[in-house]
Amino acid sequence: MPQHSPRELPEGDPFGAHTLPYGVFTTPDAPDRPRIGVRYGAYVLDAAAAAAAHGSAHADLLDRPTLNALMAAGRPTWQAVRAEIRGWLDGPHFHPLEEVTLHLPFEVADYVDFYASEHHASNVGRIFRPGAEPLTPNWKHLPIGYHGRAGTVVVSGTDVVRPQGQRKAPTDDAPSFGPSLRLDIEAEVGFVVGTPAPTNTPVPLADFREHVFGVCLVNDWSARDIQAWEYVPLGPFLGKSFATSVSAWITPLDAFDAARTPAPERTYPLLPYLDDSAAEPGGIDLRIEVTINGETISRPPFSAMYWTAAQQLAHMTVNGASLRTGDLYASGTVSGPEPDQLGCLLELTQGKGPWLADGDVVTLTAWAPGPDGTRVGLGEVTGRIVPARDH
Ligand code: MN
Repeated sequence: MPQHSPRELPEGDPFGAHTLPYGVFTTPDAPDRPRIGVRYGAYVLDAAAAAAAHGSAHADLLDRPTLNALMAAGRPTWQAVRAEIRGWLDGPHFHPLEEVTLHLPFEVADYVDFYASEHHASNVGRIFRPGAEPLTPNWKHLPIGYHGRAGTVVVSGTDVVRPQGQRKAPTDDAPSFGPSLRLDIEAEVGFVVGTPAPTNTPVPLADFREHVFGVCLVNDWSARDIQAWEYVPLGPFLGKSFATSVSAWITPLDAFDAARTPAPERTYPLLPYLDDSAAEPGGIDLRIEVTINGETISRPPFSAMYWTAAQQLAHMTVNGASLRTGDLYASGTVSGPEPDQLGCLLELTQGKGPWLADGDVVTLTAWAPGPDGTRVGLGEVTGRIVPARDH
């Protein structure tokens, strides 16, 4: 396999030296040897090969089939490895991105999905509960979430089989079974836990960076007809658990230092464990783009989220629940105040559809401002809908 060196990246490439996301890849000559790669422009650095060639003390952590060992090593190691990688970018050990296969980059431990956009929660409340207050009384006092299904988190590029299930419209006499007729997307941002925390050791807001390894895009595919019939009183279940797509690249949290923004003003004072009024800015100025079959349908702004990832982590652990390396939590659908900033078809079409058709390809991309006018990209998350399977 020839070794390539990317030399100079194109001007404005969002995967430059400020980004350096981690993934897991194989090459055609070694399809059974998944290993850690670092994206640089349109190339993948074979991190283990570069580490070995440079005699790095971290070579063993990088010669793994998942990111979990590196993620578990903690923030000082993450920072040391990132600094070392910057020194390897002008060397060999690169593969063109189009010549590698990308894999799910980490072993997912638990998966939690939040509901942190006030615009999304209000819009959905109006559609699902017309005539009632759109936000439930708890919404501005705690980050609402539910535990999802870690085992069906899939890497970008994986086909999504249209789910089957029970659905019952309010006008139907009885529920029926069949393929979802209201298949939707949810454009979200995911946070991947590196450093674990034992039970009964809640993670305060100030320790967010010690625990969260990196950021990715998430498409929380949602069957609205199944969801609407099943979700009362215990929340989302089979309408969500059939598939959740994540980027093949996990971008280190430190890459977003130049993109931190204050969270929106809060309506009510928060309980001390959630009160971030004196904390570092908790928002991230990530600009997401949603395309279906290549056509842009929305540009949701992550900076508009009411609850921050640090608050979500603090809330997730305040009851004494532990954190594990590989825990993934997603922000909830990202929607802004404008009609072209909505993160799902439910909102974009006011609940009327059209919904996803078989063959549709949905792709999320995003970037944030980096230092010195650069852009920091998130790896895309894409998936194609394929027809329901008979069973
Ligand atoms: Mn969701």
